[in-house]
Amino acid sequence: MRIGIVGCGINGAYLAYRLAKRHKVTVFEKKKVVGKDVCSGIVSKRLWNHIPKNENLIINDINEAKLHFPKKEVVLKFRPDMLILDRKKLDQYVASLAEKAGAEIKLGTEVDMVYNVKGMKPQVKVGKKVIEFDRLIGCDGFFSVVRKGVGIEQPKHRLGIYGYVKRKGDSKTVDIYPTENGFCWKIPRKGTVEFGVMEMPDVASKMYKDFCKKNRTKPKKTYSYVIPGGLVDAAKGNVALCGDAIGLTKPWSGGGVIWGLEAGDMLVKSFPNFSKYNSSLKLKFGTKIRTSRFARWLGVGLASKMPILAPKQFSFDSDWIF
Ligand SMILES: Cc1cc2nc3c(=O)[nH]c(=O)nc-3n(C[C@H](O)[C@H](O)[C@H](O)COP(=O)(O)OP(=O)(O)OC[C@H]3O[C@@H](n4cnc5c(N)ncnc54)[C@H](O)[C@@H]3O)c2cc1C
Repeated sequence: MRIGIVGCGINGAYLAYRLAKRHKVTVFEKKKVVGKDVCSGIVSKRLWNHIPKNENLIINDINEAKLHFPKKEVVLKFRPDMLILDRKKLDQYVASLAEKAGAEIKLGTEVDMVYNVKGMKPQVKVGKKVIEFDRLIGCDGFFSVVRKGVGIEQPKHRLGIYGYVKRKGDSKTVDIYPTENGFCWKIPRKGTVEFGVMEMPDVASKMYKDFCKKNRTKPKKTYSYVIPGGLVDAAKGNVALCGDAIGLTKPWSGGGVIWGLEAGDMLVKSFPNFSKYNSSLKLKFGTKIRTSRFARWLGVGLASKMPILAPKQFSFDSDWIF
């Protein structure tokens, strides 16, 4: 089967890697170089369930988050531990696996439009060329042209903003300061600390400035990008979507890497039946999203309003709640 994949971020690269073993896969990537520019790169060790282990990607590993509520500090032990990765290198590594498996990655090639007419094969328009595939997969992030082409609504989103400052030390703890719809963070990277905020777009920027000021720090450069959430439909006919294109991120942390890889495995398992993929995705992640939102509401409510009842320490699945 001829498969077209739009976007060579982590999800496009991973699906190309998995599918190229059996099919003819072409990946279109609009950037000239593969690699996500804006991402904290915290990913659980479950990463190695999906791709061959590569120690060169790891900057640090961490085993807990300290949650700073106004009247209480609660320690969340990660299960399994989390890795802090060089995100650009991760995407490049997975893209190299895809190429080794036989996928063709066309860099600097932007897909302008997608046609999905009932009874016909899906097509992509690249410049003046229209190319047809048996199956088309959109891994082209929040502003997905594939999602627009098939008429699926845009997921909700928040904004992530962060910057780095030089700091000595090798901490194994992430500091988290919950806010109304997100949180502020301090992440220990080797030789630097990342200060950041994820919140609704109208408040995130001010919150980031206030957070830096409170910590008497002034990162020289600021990075910012949308973090989608809220899982929309993942398929229409012979076109499927994965990752940020459908808002597949953990509701609290906004982390999307492991969930995207898990969804990728589900797509491969259901292939070429995209409607089966969509329903199994809804069943698994819809439930996770609802329970995770409830757990956050309960945990934050308890620690903020009845701190005496909140535990000092608890352990939770790294890819469910956080
Ligand atoms: C500030 C911030 C911090 C984050 N921190 C974490 C974290 O610590 N842990 C975690 O798990 N997740 C984190 N995330 C989320 C994570 O980065 C995303 O969920 C993940 O990268 C989504 O991957 P993707 O492949 O779906 O999309 P993307 O990485 O966005 O890749 C999409 C690709 O498609 C390409 N593309 C787009 N349109 C076209 C087109 N028309 N034609 C061709 N190519 C196209 C883009 O150039 C891009 O390469 C963070 C996100 C942000 C913004």
